[in-house]
Amino acid sequence: MKVLLANPRGFCAGVNMAIECLDEAILRFGSNIYVYHEIVHNQHVVNRFQNQGVTFVNSLDEVPIGSILLFSAHGVSPEVRAHARSRKLKAIDATCPLVTKVHLEAIRYAQQNYNIILIGHEGHDEVIGTMGEAPQSITLVETPEDVDSLSFTPDDKIAYLTQTTLSIEEAGRVIDRLKTRFPQIVSPPKDDICYATTNRQEAVSKLAANADVVIILGSQNSSNSKRLMELGSAIGRPAYLVDGAHELQTEWFANAKTVLVSAGASAPEIVVQECVDLLRNQFNAEVEEVVIREEHVNFPLPKELRVLANAQ
Ligand code: SF4
Repeated sequence: MKVLLANPRGFCAGVNMAIECLDEAILRFGSNIYVYHEIVHNQHVVNRFQNQGVTFVNSLDEVPIGSILLFSAHGVSPEVRAHARSRKLKAIDATCPLVTKVHLEAIRYAQQNYNIILIGHEGHDEVIGTMGEAPQSITLVETPEDVDSLSFTPDDKIAYLTQTTLSIEEAGRVIDRLKTRFPQIVSPPKDDICYATTNRQEAVSKLAANADVVIILGSQNSSNSKRLMELGSAIGRPAYLVDGAHELQTEWFANAKTVLVSAGASAPEIVVQECVDLLRNQFNAEVEEVVIREEHVNFPLPKELRVLANAQ
């Protein structure tokens, strides 16, 4: 067996920053810290922090007044920020700057009286946060069929934004339909689908054709990981999204000569390596890492970390 190890894969700059931020917060303030939603959508990462004593909550009412609270990489709505202030929580914002970019675009378009079409997945933390910036102005669509049911006219001011972790191809189909129906539609100068999503999808789409099976490391609720798995399937390969080596099933590899392994932006390298080790040990696999694109993106830690530490 040969294993093609996609590069880039795994942690992106936003996930790195959010995890480092929580590590640093634990170091400075102890582990009695609360995080609103999962810090990143990955079971392995969340378990590690839970084992260190961090509490993940879905409602700020669960957080004792005055506690330290982290906002996850996916961002939050202004309503959540206001709720945190009302409970006197010491908030540290680990929102990825590329998610913040979409929030700022939503605010700008809403101020300019645009009707904003947000392309994204209903219920995803990032979509909830972005919609919360201008709830009166934003309409969510997921598919080209959703676009058909919009009732705007050619005279309406319309702009579109996208969730950062969509399938480029699927989002492209929705955008094409939007442009056909509303030729006046505008969009931000730079795409909202982020560099990490784009690069990981590019690597899988280039390499999957050379593989018999595609394995993507990532959690089921990780949007960008799921998109990678779907990409493998769309190319006609059996594709599996797994949280770790323990989920691999021997029969998946019965006739596999080449296996593509990649990982979503929230999946740590350790789970990739455990998976590769299992394939080495069980199938005598040779591993070839294939670099499709280099990444050199880093985001600074939130300033609140320093400000809160100085105030203590
Ligand atoms: Fe930021 Fe993209 Fe990573 Fe999401 S996937 S945290 S938007 S860099």
